[in-house]
Amino acid sequence: MKIPFSPPYIDESIIDEVVDTLRSGWITTGPKVKALEQEIKTYSQSEEVLCVNSWTSGAMLMLTWLGVKPGDEVIVPAYTYCATAHAVIHTGAKPVMVDSGEDFNISVDAIRKAITPRTKAILPVDIGGFPCDYPAIMQLVNEPEIKAMFVPDNEVQRQLGRILVVSDSAHSLGAKLPHGGRSDVAIFSLHAVKNVTSAEGGAICLNLPAPFDNAAVYSELRLNTLNCQTKDAFTKSQAGGWKYDIVGLGMKINLPDVNAAIALAQMRIYPQLLERRKEVFQAYERGFADCDWMVMPPSVTENGVESSYHLLALRIKGITEEQRNDIIAEVAKAEVAVNVHYVPLPMLTYFRELGYQMEDYPKAFANYCSEISLPIYPQLTDEQVNYIVNCMKEAYAKVVKGE
Ligand SMILES: *Cc1c(COP(=O)(O)O)cnc(C)c1O
Repeated sequence: MKIPFSPPYIDESIIDEVVDTLRSGWITTGPKVKALEQEIKTYSQSEEVLCVNSWTSGAMLMLTWLGVKPGDEVIVPAYTYCATAHAVIHTGAKPVMVDSGEDFNISVDAIRKAITPRTKAILPVDIGGFPCDYPAIMQLVNEPEIKAMFVPDNEVQRQLGRILVVSDSAHSLGAKLPHGGRSDVAIFSLHAVKNVTSAEGGAICLNLPAPFDNAAVYSELRLNTLNCQTKDAFTKSQAGGWKYDIVGLGMKINLPDVNAAIALAQMRIYPQLLERRKEVFQAYERGFADCDWMVMPPSVTENGVESSYHLLALRIKGITEEQRNDIIAEVAKAEVAVNVHYVPLPMLTYFRELGYQMEDYPKAFANYCSEISLPIYPQLTDEQVNYIVNCMKEAYAKVVKGE
């Protein structure tokens, strides 16, 4: 049985929405992007939502808005996808990597130890869709001693008066956040493998504290996604609307309507899609109930936190990196596509050459060595889940028990 890792969810309603855009005569940023922003705003209960062409460009935009520059530091986990650190490096600042906690997510204690007077922002990552401990992180950045360390060097930073928390929520659209804490800015990825997709895209959710006016920040950022041109192409295309000005050095990172249409149609059915993801997760839980050699990823907590079930990130107890690789090879023979989330950044050539060392992140390394991500998406049937579970059990028995 051939099982792909993460195919996009495309039904007739999604195809119809894209065709509607193609027939409308307007294919780049316009009414579909506005409608998508509204859907995500309502769904995530954010103050404002701005769509861009990727998570990565969205993160660069937010760090640029904050005025992050060479000499500054931004705290990121070592256990993440490269984009989290790349966004920081593009601003000229230094990503300060810290280790994971007990699950896959960034350790709040490690964040505390990494804060210096140069720290401008923290980018916690909701690995697999399970939210980080935002109440603890927000409390940390608001502690008087931590605030006293903060050195603002522009108006935005002065108004904020503390470290900005921008969550890498690439995986966690639809996750339930803990009570009493959310990040200042959350960025969802709408990349093809994510829970909701526009093929490529990102959604920036603004929940900045007072005295910021989120609507004003939205307008300023939107201008910045379009070369700082005072009129977007849609407005300019109307009769008599030709006049415009360029008011700054903008980026060009707007989301086209033809892309937004895909995500817009997906958002309308996302509650059902998410429910099916949860059922698939639960089918795995039942399938692996008798396997004490395996740890399921975190999914729910007593205080109302719930994952968006983006990854089925298993950890297999007591295995070496080599055994994990052998298990993957066995499962691949059965035509089941699996992945590893993630190869920690210090193990990758670029970051190693920048001087990051894997020995400094033992928890991230242990996670990496024992981790295998199995397919999880709404189209998976219970029969397919059972097949994958049996493949995993057989591969484990063969590789680890020599059976
Ligand atoms: C996918 C992903 C990104 C990058 O998203 P893009 O939309 O492709 O830029 C960033 N962080 C994490 C954790 C991701 O999984």
